Amino acid sequence: MQQAARVAGKSESLDKLLTDYPSGPHDQPQSMCPAFGSLRVGLRMRRTATILSGSACCVYGLTFTSHFYGAKRSVGYVPFNSETLVRGQLYEDIRNAVYEVAKPADYDAVVVINLCVPTASGVPLDRLPKAIDGVRIIGIDVPGFGVPTHAEAKDVLAGAMLRYARTEAGAGPVARPRSVSSMPTVTLIGELFPLDPPGVGAILAPMGLAVGPSVPPREWRDLYGALDCAAAAAVHPFYTASIREMQAAGRPVVGSGPVGEEGTADWLDSIAAATGISAAAAKAKALPAIRAAIAENQIEARMTVSGYEGSELLVARLLIEAGADVPYVGTACPQTAWSEPDRAWLAAQGTHVQFRASLEQDMAAMLEVRPDLAVGTTPLVQKAKALGIPALYFTNMVSARPLFGSAGAGALAAIVAAQTKGRDRFSRMVSFFDKVGSGETAGYGWTDVPKDPPGAKDRLRKAREAKAKAAMAVGT
Ligand code: SF4
Repeated sequence: MQQAARVAGKSESLDKLLTDYPSGPHDQPQSMCPAFGSLRVGLRMRRTATILSGSACCVYGLTFTSHFYGAKRSVGYVPFNSETLVRGQLYEDIRNAVYEVAKPADYDAVVVINLCVPTASGVPLDRLPKAIDGVRIIGIDVPGFGVPTHAEAKDVLAGAMLRYARTEAGAGPVARPRSVSSMPTVTLIGELFPLDPPGVGAILAPMGLAVGPSVPPREWRDLYGALDCAAAAAVHPFYTASIREMQAAGRPVVGSGPVGEEGTADWLDSIAAATGISAAAAKAKALPAIRAAIAENQIEARMTVSGYEGSELLVARLLIEAGADVPYVGTACPQTAWSEPDRAWLAAQGTHVQFRASLEQDMAAMLEVRPDLAVGTTPLVQKAKALGIPALYFTNMVSARPLFGSAGAGALAAIVAAQTKGRDRFSRMVSFFDKVGSGETAGYGWTDVPKDPPGAKDRLRKAREAKAKAAMAVGT
């Protein structure tokens, strides 16, 4: 499909994706359809319509997943068939759909996402009008053969919107963001637990800094507020395109995040270096509270951490500061300059950090480490539980609780303690079921390889042949 896309004129788009989201050491980590990341960002924005262009089966899956995760908006879809695709009619259909939807009374922006087949066929979303009656039109290619993870796909859309908003702000006055702070702000880059931005704001307050609108934003005009910051914090370090836009706007960017005591101290130092404001007052206030929260919530467990959200290194830092032994961290996201502070810190603790980790690497690490608790993706959790190792789905662990400051320090210990206690129960379950449910013994009552009923294959073959013959006879 990559080759087809290049022949169809998408080389520039693919090269850009490859630069921003490099593959390797593995070329394709195993996670959900990457376009889900862009779709989710679009669906979470007010006054924004999101339209998919792709195969019906892909759109069905993406729509299902969006609503499973509580999307409150409709997913737009421009269907196609072989003929409209080959004749170029699909582009015309998308253009018509965009004109139909782009009503300024309803929307600030319309996002169109090319999935695999339209990208491979060269559907030129870049030729769509840039705006219709003041409604911005953003067309992006997010093929599974060009964007390695859904996490990075969030950046594809966030980066494209920031670029558009930066150009608008450069050209003249723009709409006032929903909330404007009287203090200089720090823009947090990455999808965060809702309590985290106010928590980080409280940490920064003694420096005379506030937290501004985050990226990805919740409304178009928030983009102007996000760009208008004293510094940007790449809390999720894989937002390469968004970081590039921040830098193009002249904003300093810092990596890592305020996790644990040491992590928060380091992060505040980076913010101080970026803004020229001393971090002494903020450290004096925040660090003792975090230290106390960690002391009260010690973790005694050997753990492996793996996931595809991009915050795996931060979670591992916090776990280690709380006392956990974490010999392995795997992330499906790539290594970037902004993950370097966390990588270096973890390496200094003896933790192996695997970027672009494959499921096989995560599994191998878990089998070697034999942790008290494996935190990982669903297939890893499934494998761990089958082996009697307590396991927890990474996304559930991080998306439902705070990560930063003293709130983050207190949140992880309880869930780790509750899960690791289950080890005996898991061992009993493994011996109770004793291979039932695996291989040929799957299902109730099977002890041997199930046999076909005698003659069944023959009967089915004959029925198929008769049906085919009948179909051929029609019209003769
Ligand atoms: S990766 Fe491509 S083919 Fe697979 S579901 Fe996503 S759009 Fe469809």
